[in-house]
Amino acid sequence: MAKRDYYEVLGVERGASEAELKKAYRRLAMKYHPDRNPDDKEAEEKFKEANEAYEVLTDAQKRAAYDQYGHAGVDPNMGAGAGGFGGGASFSDIFGDVFGDIFGGGGGRGGRSSVQRGSDLRYTLELDLEEAVRGTTVTIRVPTLAECKTCNGTGAKKGSSPVTCTTCGGHGQVRMQQGFFSVQQTCPRCHGSGKMITDPCGDCHGHGRVEEQKTLSVKVPAGVDTGDRIRLAGEGEAGVNGGPSGDLYVVVSVREHKIFQRDGKNLYCEVPVSFADAALGGELEVPTLDGRVKLKIPEGAQTGKLFRLRGKGVVPVRGGSAGDLLCRIVVETPVNLTKRQRELLEELRSTLEAEGSNQSPRAKSWFEGVKNFFEDMKF
Ligand SMILES: [Zn+2]
Ligand SMILES: [Zn+2]
Repeated sequence: MAKRDYYEVLGVERGASEAELKKAYRRLAMKYHPDRNPDDKEAEEKFKEANEAYEVLTDAQKRAAYDQYGHAGVDPNMGAGAGGFGGGASFSDIFGDVFGDIFGGGGGRGGRSSVQRGSDLRYTLELDLEEAVRGTTVTIRVPTLAECKTCNGTGAKKGSSPVTCTTCGGHGQVRMQQGFFSVQQTCPRCHGSGKMITDPCGDCHGHGRVEEQKTLSVKVPAGVDTGDRIRLAGEGEAGVNGGPSGDLYVVVSVREHKIFQRDGKNLYCEVPVSFADAALGGELEVPTLDGRVKLKIPEGAQTGKLFRLRGKGVVPVRGGSAGDLLCRIVVETPVNLTKRQRELLEELRSTLEAEGSNQSPRAKSWFEGVKNFFEDMKF
């Protein structure tokens, strides 16, 4: 088969400048690119032909050889010319060179670049401590973008379908001249999708997605804590142009509890102890997350003393043994004394004073500290 003249292939004059060659080649490549003409043998041949012509004519040495000797000058089988075609730049090299700036490098992805995964969503789930510790199932309502059911996400009205964008030829990107610079931009008409909707769907106004309140049931495992995340795959925003949906991350936030503070798997609580119980010893009931337990207060207990109730804490969500419940006692001074109580306390005070300081160990060491302090300061 006789080879066509390279200038004829590109449709340019023999004296065409490099810019003219490039322009002509780009027009042909856009038209015959395999991505846009799948399974079209004729287009593929035309595309290869244009590539070959462009490669030879943009190489000064090869072009000179071609101008002088015709195809023989650059035919690799003839061994003449400047190294021939086959050994030169590969198909993808030239293509990348001319189109890299348009397509963001490499092969022409065209309309496919507009396929996007939907965004991930984050939902803060507030739980009571009891719910977090025991686990629960909650129903949440999440505002999201879902695929429009009317148009199945295409954005086009029923019976119509999107057409190739005429501004960018379906590539989603256009080149803009700004002074001396030629810059690549997302096509302003189709916003990068490469498709235009001539008859938009009334429900989504051509966006293909609609705002929706999604109702989901979330199973919260026992032992979760503030900051733990539960991932619901595919429950985020719908993708664009057939892209996959994003994920939904449910982030746990445990509300403050009236009685317990949580630190990892341990729970803390403060237990008020009467003045008399602290001095004489006694037994109290303290709450736990699943009921109550008796706590023995020894004689002479002081404020701040911690009592550890083993295994009454939290079983962590990632497994392991339960933590402990730590009760800190706070000795409470009685108020609103009756006359009789006042007399008893007056009597107690005088006997305590008579006995000396060994009945008040903390006061004894405190007063000694103060005495030493004053001596050191030489007051
Ligand atoms: Zn466009
Ligand atoms: Zn729609």
